[in-house]
Amino acid sequence: MTESEAESEVPTFAELGVIPPLCEACESLGFKKPTDIQAKAIPEALAGRDVIGLAQTGSGKTAAFSIPILQALWDNPQPLFACVIAPTRELSYQIAQQIEALGATIGARCATIVGGMDMMAQAIALSKRPHVIVATPGRLQDHLENTKGFSLRSLKYLVMDEADRLLDLDFGPIIDRLLQNIPKERRTMLFSATMTTKVAKLQRASLRSPVRVEIGTKYSTVETLQQYYLFMPFAHKDTYLVHLANEQAGQSIIVFTRTVHDAQRLAILLRLLGFSAIPLHGQLSQTARLGALNKFKAGGRSIMVCTDVAARGLDIPSVDLVINFDIPTHSKDYIHRVGRTARAGRSGRSVTLVTQYDVELLQRIEAAIGKRLEEFPGSDREMVMLLSERVGEAQRAAQREIQDKGLGSAGGAGRRRRRQAGDDDDNRDRDDDVVQAGSYRKSGKRRK
Ligand code: AMP
Repeated sequence: MTESEAESEVPTFAELGVIPPLCEACESLGFKKPTDIQAKAIPEALAGRDVIGLAQTGSGKTAAFSIPILQALWDNPQPLFACVIAPTRELSYQIAQQIEALGATIGARCATIVGGMDMMAQAIALSKRPHVIVATPGRLQDHLENTKGFSLRSLKYLVMDEADRLLDLDFGPIIDRLLQNIPKERRTMLFSATMTTKVAKLQRASLRSPVRVEIGTKYSTVETLQQYYLFMPFAHKDTYLVHLANEQAGQSIIVFTRTVHDAQRLAILLRLLGFSAIPLHGQLSQTARLGALNKFKAGGRSIMVCTDVAARGLDIPSVDLVINFDIPTHSKDYIHRVGRTARAGRSGRSVTLVTQYDVELLQRIEAAIGKRLEEFPGSDREMVMLLSERVGEAQRAAQREIQDKGLGSAGGAGRRRRRQAGDDDDNRDRDDDVVQAGSYRKSGKRRK
């Protein structure tokens, strides 16, 4: 079968039963054809079925649940029509953005209710009675208990997105309470990258004779993703990272680290060496995290260094390369991390740094995804090591900055300083703003 024949076999949004204003919205967002999960989930949801969708981020799952909800809203407009629960604030904002974009043609109003933002402003947004609420569970519960006049008694649709992650983050008890406060007569959709026993339990408690739609296998990575490993001695990881950043200059890159400290340290190190890098991790305030993400999305920063906090659900369509600075301990995290590239049919690459201590983990990942990673080409050791002196200097300077400013969870001086300063989020964010302002860079020029 030729590519165009295969393409023509995929139904259009209209053929799935999507109404013209929403088809138009898809077109204006550049969605030419439904993705696999959309083709499977949309008709079921339009037919009024509860849906459990097993799909990874990047599959187009947000539109898979948003389109049927917006279509039902068009038929039966009412405030507080649907609620989407998501595990993280960033994911909530992204879902809301997509619902607003898809719902623009039908005048759908959406509110995002997440922790770390002003309760009062959210109460005002809720009093305007939006059609759709996208929320993290804790803050939603908080409003249900404390915001006068707000309830979800008229809710028609509930979505639980990234249910496995919601439950990993111990949101289970809050979700149980939320379920008691919303009508039983409703449609429910539950999306999850993996089907765990906890997810199955939540499904039984919240969905009614659902239809299960699934793409790929439990652990799978998309075909358009080229996955590499790069083997190196542990002591030279930073040098290899800088080498990769040099080689891949001009590409948008996400670097994943295991710790907040490393995310912070590597962002400074890369900046000192002239790259535009930005840290993203859970110790930044919500405002700083969104700011970092938006700068990165807008192309103002070409390297984002982040912890797994940012690994799930972020919609960064243009990322070209994912670098696993630390190999993930769980294969599931590997899938989620590399899922930041090669999304919705585009191509992308990932490189996992592997040291003498990581070989077993690499083998476990390969077994889980059913694929051998290839060695990343063109990283001749002697050539890489030419960078080591300069990287060494930058490492020392970065360490000094971290100690002076008390950034990240470095321990030692950093932690002491934060404690003196009250150890509150505000202090950390001010420190991070200094990093983001790029004041550590010795010169604006890229050194080669
Ligand atoms: P999601 O899995 O919902 O996070 O979506 C991943 C990315 O795919 C987002 O940037 C969407 O805008 C994009 N997307 C969703 N559906 C389609 C489609 N049918 N065609 C092209 N891109 C899509």
